[in-house]
Amino acid sequence: MTDDTNGTQNGDASPFGAMKINFGGAADASPAGASALNPFGGISIISDGPDAIPAQPAGPIGYTGDPGRSETQVLIIGSGPAGLTAAIYAARANLQPIVLAGSTPGGQLMLTSDVENYPGFPDGIDGPELMAKMRAQAERFGSQIVDVDIDRVDLSSRPFRVWARGTEYRAQSVIIATGASALWLNLESEQRLRGRGVSACATCDGFFFRNREIAVVGGGDSAMEEANFLTKFASKVHLFHRREAFRASKIMIDRTYNHPKIEVHTNTEVAEVLGDNKVDGIRVRDTTTGDERELPMEGLFIAIGHKPNTDVFADWLDVDAKGYLVAHDHTRSKIDGVFIAGDVHDHRYRQAVTAAGDGCKAAIDAERWLESEGLAEHQTATAW
Ligand code: NAP
Repeated sequence: MTDDTNGTQNGDASPFGAMKINFGGAADASPAGASALNPFGGISIISDGPDAIPAQPAGPIGYTGDPGRSETQVLIIGSGPAGLTAAIYAARANLQPIVLAGSTPGGQLMLTSDVENYPGFPDGIDGPELMAKMRAQAERFGSQIVDVDIDRVDLSSRPFRVWARGTEYRAQSVIIATGASALWLNLESEQRLRGRGVSACATCDGFFFRNREIAVVGGGDSAMEEANFLTKFASKVHLFHRREAFRASKIMIDRTYNHPKIEVHTNTEVAEVLGDNKVDGIRVRDTTTGDERELPMEGLFIAIGHKPNTDVFADWLDVDAKGYLVAHDHTRSKIDGVFIAGDVHDHRYRQAVTAAGDGCKAAIDAERWLESEGLAEHQTATAW
């Protein structure tokens, strides 16, 4: 899903003036003042696995799973909209799922402030708040959620085995919903100003840049698409690409060059994002001469691609040329009992709502498969 950046609608001079964000674990990305935003009410549910889960303090969500379990019918890996929706459905089907949520749970929405395109929230909702609600909903029906990263998997036979921080989890079925991560330039200033004018998602944050002059970085179709999309809002869009030649398709290049609101700068890279608490400008470098100049700019969109989080699965499952998992027959992978949901295989839509839909499908497919294998009785995944 592309909802991985930040913005807030307040109509004042700063598009991110009222920013409320938890940068979830990216230590170097935490802006001042963003610390109190744990969607779990100040509780960090980080553990070393079931055996090590401490008594959870009370709070708006709290921990509701069985702390001792490491065997399940459905193991869900990932805790963005796909993983948590799968958990809601699997739990309601009485499959008692375990969710290995990652050490920075919640997925890319944790880096988003206002989410205005998720149905059901006419006034928008903070990304972390939305994820907290999904998590609470999954826990309400008995999901056990453990905030650990997985280290390795063995999908050679059932029960499938997954290791996370020294604990071995065994599952009759696995739903992989580990998502994808936006690539960044990895400039210190870029990370510091993420959510304060720096974004990786035009669909999510473009709205906040009405009548502002902004920049896009990248030379592929994503950058062209984002630049063109942003012209709906911005007064002017500058596209910066580090080379002369583009990876984008010709039609997108032509559209970009022909757009009256877009100015293309080739052989130019962003050397620094300027501004203390919000983006004021950028310092760019000519990649042929090394000459640098500063340009006033109120926003910067990074569109240099995404990396799917598939490293531990690549030896087991089919991946496409870009590293995304390949699903066969809806959410099934090539291994019976292993299902795929969300951005980890979707580089086309990448939306929270499409990921959630995928999670629902994967849970229903897992339930039906378990049932067909005689491993689960018919339950209520689809009941509402
Ligand atoms: P991409 O095609 O891999 O392009 C990434 C671009 O970012 C490249 O131009 C690359 O520059 C640049 N880049 C990478 N790292 C950089 C860095 N550190 N600093 C500056 N620039 C950097 O990625 P994409 O545009 O996200 O597209 C991914 C795939 O999705 C493509 O197959 C694309 O066709 C597809 N897609 C299709 C559509 C559509 O059809 N509507 C829309 C979006 C994406 P270099 O060229 O110098 O390496």
